[in-house]
Amino acid sequence: MADFKMIIDGKEVDSKSGARMEVINPATEKVIGTVPKGTAEDVDRAVKAARKAFKKWSRLTPGERSGLLYKLGDRLDQDLKRLAEIETSQTGKPLKLTMNSDLPFANDNIRFFAAQARILEGTAAGEYAPGYTSFLRREAVGVVGSIAPWNYPYLMAAWKIGPALAAGNTVVIKPASNTPFTTVELAKAALEVGIPEGVLNVVIGPGAEVGSAICRHDDVNMVSLTGDTATGKKIMEQAAASVKRLHLELGGKAPFIVFDDANIDAAANGAVVAGYVNTGQDCTAATRVYVQKSKYKEFVEQFVGHVKKIRVGDPLKPTTDIGPLISKDQRERVAGFVERARKAGLEIATGGRAMDGPGFFYQPTVILGAKHEDEVVQREIFGPVVVVMSFDTEEEIIEKANGVEYGLASSLWTRDVTRALRVSRDLEYGEVWINDHLPLASEMPHGGVKRSGFGSDLSRYSFEEYTNVKHVMADLSGDARKGWHFTVYGDQS
Ligand code: NAD
Repeated sequence: MADFKMIIDGKEVDSKSGARMEVINPATEKVIGTVPKGTAEDVDRAVKAARKAFKKWSRLTPGERSGLLYKLGDRLDQDLKRLAEIETSQTGKPLKLTMNSDLPFANDNIRFFAAQARILEGTAAGEYAPGYTSFLRREAVGVVGSIAPWNYPYLMAAWKIGPALAAGNTVVIKPASNTPFTTVELAKAALEVGIPEGVLNVVIGPGAEVGSAICRHDDVNMVSLTGDTATGKKIMEQAAASVKRLHLELGGKAPFIVFDDANIDAAANGAVVAGYVNTGQDCTAATRVYVQKSKYKEFVEQFVGHVKKIRVGDPLKPTTDIGPLISKDQRERVAGFVERARKAGLEIATGGRAMDGPGFFYQPTVILGAKHEDEVVQREIFGPVVVVMSFDTEEEIIEKANGVEYGLASSLWTRDVTRALRVSRDLEYGEVWINDHLPLASEMPHGGVKRSGFGSDLSRYSFEEYTNVKHVMADLSGDARKGWHFTVYGDQS
């Protein structure tokens, strides 16, 4: 049993209310620890601490902040195995994923932002209006409220904390209630390497109370959410009264388009990895696979064959490919989609059932025969369910691929270079992969369009989300009356 506290102003604290919440391992259904159940009062304490710390933190030199973030990345690397085990215990994702992918990538992201802290870009100082020198100051936004989801708790925390702190902001982060442990660990590591108290605060609690209090707080300058599109809409409403800057990374329904000249073997393998990664609880997961008609049968045969071999089970076993869903509710939600599809007469080519417990396991599932309007094609299921369909022409597939409300990630599989370039231009997505699906890089942006939100994670574009540009314009003449004053007051001399 692990009993964690929240981190406010550099101290491990309980909620003022004294209430606590249990955290469950979704692979065993056992309680593995407890955390404080924070309230709006705790958010206020954390925001005050973040505000107090802001002046000093934002005025460190970029080099000083950079040095501390490098230390944080290295410190986290030293503790990789322990942290990966904690991440696995609270999410149910395989240890081979947390150890070899989520955590090392997140630590690399933090080191990337350590480097980025020292590269503040903007228009050069100069005389853009006669008689005046203009220059830019790129400044921190202030206190940032970060709200994270449960599907990649450690990685999402790193994506939020890294650029915000590098740019000189202070942070109040709220992890999802079922996956709070590793965010607290990150904040503890930050204190250990010398990031000052109050710079990174963690408040744990329900979205409707703690998340909402962050969004409504007058002294929070910006809110960054990764979560569901419905949550994004609520956050926009809640943040409207104080006109906060927002950064929203929301849902997805990624198309995976296989043209008839593609390497079908590679595409079938790629679709398994991209469709079932993290038990399909991934905003970029390849949930809609479209195969050009002449290759549809061949692809389905190979793909379903692979899916049947996915090893579902104990996340700690190195031979396990996918773990359980995050919760009982999530499994019911996924099962609901599949049941409705079954009732509507769609073919369940493999899977389609919950697995015996303990643990919220669900069989890797393939659905065939869906129409474009069907909910399994239009809505985010967020489980191990992939829908495979066929198409005829390039024109048709672009319309279908773009014909959902989301616009986060997409991929196309072809050996034809001109087609790859044409289709990547036409896909209305923040991300397009050619002959692969999923990989990301610290240096390149990740973000959506349409109802997948706005703003970027990763890269210098994310760093820019967390800064304001201030134009400073200085008179060079010293004259009491400037040449242009007559346009407002008095006569031209
Ligand atoms: P969620 O929207 O239910 O919760 C996300 C966070 O928002 C949680 O911390 C939650 O407590 C909080 N929250 C809920 N209601 C709130 C409110 N009214 N005010 C303030 N905060 C509130 O999402 P989830 O189920 O944890 O995560 C899955 C979702 O996240 C999926 O839709 C997925 O596509 C999306 N996601 C997107 C990306 C991306 O990069 N675009 C990455 C990962 C996950």
